[in-house]
Amino acid sequence: MRILSFKNSIGASLIAGLLLTLASGAQAQAPATTGVQGKTELLWFGQAGFRIKSPAGKMILIDPWITGGPKTPPMYKNDLAAIGPIDLLLVTHAHVDHLGDAPAVAKANNIKLYGPADMDTPLNTLGILPPELTHRFNKTGNVTPLPGIKVTAVQAEHSSLLVWKNPATDKLESHPAGEAMGYIIQLENGFKIWHMGDTGLFSDMKFISEYYKPDLVLVPIGGNFTMAPDDAAYALRTWIKPKMVIPMHYGSNPMTKGTLAEFQEAMKGSSIKIIPMTPGETVQF
Ligand SMILES: [Zn+2]
Repeated sequence: MRILSFKNSIGASLIAGLLLTLASGAQAQAPATTGVQGKTELLWFGQAGFRIKSPAGKMILIDPWITGGPKTPPMYKNDLAAIGPIDLLLVTHAHVDHLGDAPAVAKANNIKLYGPADMDTPLNTLGILPPELTHRFNKTGNVTPLPGIKVTAVQAEHSSLLVWKNPATDKLESHPAGEAMGYIIQLENGFKIWHMGDTGLFSDMKFISEYYKPDLVLVPIGGNFTMAPDDAAYALRTWIKPKMVIPMHYGSNPMTKGTLAEFQEAMKGSSIKIIPMTPGETVQF
């Protein structure tokens, strides 16, 4: 019953319009935006970094490349604390543009970093984070870290390597860090977001969509390391078929040349709602 009425309201909201708040970060933090009961709010930091405010007001942070991100708005880039208190921290894989500030956020909030089991293990063994500040899980595994919020790890076609500066030698070291993952994040009202992480094409995107039924997909389009715009459009139109999509992981690295315009062109004629964002912008549902 709850889910049915929710699905209706999502359908209506597609026509009536999601509230797009063009953000200056100041607006992103204003009580008027963050205090709305029952809304889901996404703030994009650039690349794959999002802060999701759940309908019950819980703050979920994913892939926070904030202080090092070239597109991070200055208010966050210069002051990590400006992202506010975080309740749940998720990382898809160990590459620096995803792991980023996550260890610092885990420590500052005294919360666990939820990540691929074999990424969290070297974080522990190298002394980057203590075991009590990590939660190791793996694909198809799901967790309920907060009441009413369920996170399921799903496949991503990508790699994961941890580059770490050893303070004893002052030299960079490379450490295996498990396999990259994506996340299906189900919020208190049933709304499901699929953060795909970094991924190339794989045909089980169809299975993941059919089995988990995501409402909103955060999809990488930059190419080189991930799907390019035409790949992402193929996956969305042919396999995933979500209601809404937010393109991500483009414009932050000269090697990821895929653009929003190319993605929009490749999606032309599709009924899937594209929600383009700029770093620092918030979107409310
Ligand atoms: Zn990566």
